[in-house]
Amino acid sequence: MKVHADSLGLRQRVVPAGEVIFREGDPGDFAYIIEAGLVEVTALVDGQRVVLNTMGPGSLLGELALVDGRPRSAQAQAREETLLTLITTDQFAARLADADPIVQLLFAVSMRYLRAEAAHARGHAESVETALQTESQLGSRFRPRTEAALERIRLESDLRIAIAERQFELHFQPIIDLESGRPCGLEALIRWNSPMRGFVRPDLFIGVAEESALILPIGDWVLEESIRVLQHLREQFRIPLFMSINIAARQTEDPTLADKITGMLESRGLERSAIKLEIIERALFESEGARAWGNALADLGLKLALDDFGTGYSSLQYLQEYRFDTLKIDRSFVWGLGNKKNSESLCRTIVDLAASLDMGVVAEGVETTEQAEMLRAMGCQMGQGYHFARPVPLPGVERLLSDWGH
Ligand code: C2E
Ligand code: CA
Ligand code: CA
Repeated sequence: MKVHADSLGLRQRVVPAGEVIFREGDPGDFAYIIEAGLVEVTALVDGQRVVLNTMGPGSLLGELALVDGRPRSAQAQAREETLLTLITTDQFAARLADADPIVQLLFAVSMRYLRAEAAHARGHAESVETALQTESQLGSRFRPRTEAALERIRLESDLRIAIAERQFELHFQPIIDLESGRPCGLEALIRWNSPMRGFVRPDLFIGVAEESALILPIGDWVLEESIRVLQHLREQFRIPLFMSINIAARQTEDPTLADKITGMLESRGLERSAIKLEIIERALFESEGARAWGNALADLGLKLALDDFGTGYSSLQYLQEYRFDTLKIDRSFVWGLGNKKNSESLCRTIVDLAASLDMGVVAEGVETTEQAEMLRAMGCQMGQGYHFARPVPLPGVERLLSDWGH
């Protein structure tokens, strides 16, 4: 039997017609993808060889032994000349380890079940000893993150309750015009006060909300509430503040989003440029229709800001493809100002880039007077960070705006 590596480093095997690929009791060292040919899988039932399955191109073969490390429980034989691509335990384990914990758990449970069913079909029920042995071999090769999977499911159901019981709140962080030193906008940041969990950080639950589509009702609520607050503050202080609102990748796939936003703005008598939709590069990268989405929003007169700028892969390409209104310099660059040599050049480069593309620029995470001064001196238009103000609930924003003399 010939084994060779193809250009991708994948190992392949050509099996002549009639040759056995593996027998019962053989070690389960590979799984196989059938690229061409036909394979018959058989097992001994009451001393008789019975055909379990006949498989053609595109099928996966022998994966069970690979996963639980137990000997082959069936025989596979090529019915005609067959080309196989080999999958090693390491390749399999690496992918499983990367998988979502819930998928891992489902996988482990299904595999155990399949083994028991297969044994049952062959007339010998799985003994307690073998079941335990399976557990331990599974454990040595691949240990599903069961606790993580369960925690994910609990978090998801707590989030559903949170939506129904309105446990969310918005905090607002001022965005400062560095030249005048006055606030020109606010960023809406969600907070979850869970009666069971206490305060949960958004970076801990937004990801789970995105994976389960719960981000859609949450995102709608954030839009509605932040636009309501913006109208209220504009009326109270009579200044043209804008509101920055974070948009998750999943929301860009919601075909009704643009209509919802324009509807909300209209019903509150606000112009379309009153809000900025903040989106991170990864979201554009992950979502297929993102470019069309971005252009449709820009056509409607809605403003897009590229969040965490400088932390993605191909930022410059996105600048060409999308009509961004604003770049937000990631706080990791701002943090280095004054203590890391490269940070100053990087901030300056982003500020110049934004200016030459006629975009606004906000520096995030400004924590010291020195950073604020350096940014202002290099021509950075706006800043946001603890140095000016932390994110605060609405009454806090009202106090800040009064103190600032608006
Ligand atoms: P982000 O959009 O980059 O938001 C800025 C984060 O930096 C906020 O964290 C803010 O509290 C924090 N921050 C502000 N100034 C400073 C500073 O001077 N120093 C430091 N170290 N941090 C500062 P927060 O509120 O915990 O939010 C974390 C992330 O969660 C946000 O990052 C955003 O990606 C996401 N997020 C928050 N609210 C929403 C929301 O309504 N929708 C969506 N989709 N994502 C949200
Ligand atoms: Ca943001
Ligand atoms: Ca950011």
